[in-house]
Amino acid sequence: MEMNHNLRIFRIDTAGCGGCALELEALAAMPQEGGKPAVEWVSDPSLADLLVISGGPNLRSRRLVENAWKRMPPHAKIAAVGACACTGGLFGQFEQMTGADAFFPVNIYIRGCAPSPQALLAGLQAAMNCRPNKDGEVDPDEG
Ligand code: SF4
Repeated sequence: MEMNHNLRIFRIDTAGCGGCALELEALAAMPQEGGKPAVEWVSDPSLADLLVISGGPNLRSRRLVENAWKRMPPHAKIAAVGACACTGGLFGQFEQMTGADAFFPVNIYIRGCAPSPQALLAGLQAAMNCRPNKDGEVDPDEG
């Protein structure tokens, strides 16, 4: 699906140190080409093209992610940002934390602890072009 607007992102910071969230905040404040932001952050998941998960999904935050994902449009995709969201990362030994893809159909992995601004931008741009996966399974009770 071709979009005629900026990539709209709904973000959930799950369990982690907050470093990835800070990098995403910095990215949101950074003007891009032509002085316009490359991405647009939305507070309503039903308006978003991309769900960004930063941090590992623990028992509590999995429900938040699941509820947001259910409300997102059919073309929506999911990006796992940072080592915690990709694999469980440093905190994987706590709260039975694993990568987000144990529960959600992740399309894009942006690795790093925390990912560099360049990696974030490249990953978010790749998310614009990848195929949607809304039919993928969501199983918050797994794991
Ligand atoms: S990946 Fe690293 S920077 Fe990001 S939330 Fe986890 S520990 Fe923090």
